[in-house]
Amino acid sequence: MISWIKSFFALFFPQCCVVCENPLFDGEEMLCIKCNMDMPRTNYHRIRGNPAERLFWGRIPIERATSFFFYSKGSDFRNILYSLKYRGNKELGESMGRFMARELLDCGFFEGIDVVIPVPLHPDKLAKRGYNQSEWIARGVSAITGVRVDTTSVIRKKNTETQTRKSTFERWENVDGIFELLNSELFTGKHILIYCCPVKISGPKN
Ligand SMILES: [Zn+2]
Repeated sequence: MISWIKSFFALFFPQCCVVCENPLFDGEEMLCIKCNMDMPRTNYHRIRGNPAERLFWGRIPIERATSFFFYSKGSDFRNILYSLKYRGNKELGESMGRFMARELLDCGFFEGIDVVIPVPLHPDKLAKRGYNQSEWIARGVSAITGVRVDTTSVIRKKNTETQTRKSTFERWENVDGIFELLNSELFTGKHILIYCCPVKISGPKN
């Protein structure tokens, strides 16, 4: 019955792929199969010393880091980030989090992680957007891994100007001192997965 109702509504309000905007078929979620297969995945989780890990070297102690797919000018895959950040499609974050977690599960990427912390937005930005896209991605990761999400222990003290035009180094300078960890004693000796969307990393063009 539910399937019949969904099909009926789909006649008038078809769900479309967020990348190519073609109507989705039954069983497809947010992305059509073709776009899912064509997604320019980084596969960084299979590479020790990958560019995402190197961003943190010499700055903070990390075990591993990865990024799901390359983001480049002119690519239709940028629609994923636009839809998630600027078109109110927060559910897309949850779906992407699940897609990514399923692919990373087998290689042990999540082993030993105690908690997932999405990078918080400043309260002003949160009020404007209505949701934190990183939090929705983290929810998807949590749904697959069972690792709990903590959205209250890290707060953003300052609102920073938009980072999209800054170099990686300037970004680091810009975030220095703007976050605060509450109840830090609760995190002593813990492994924390920090979720941020998106991070600009130099990589091959797609
Ligand atoms: Zn598509």
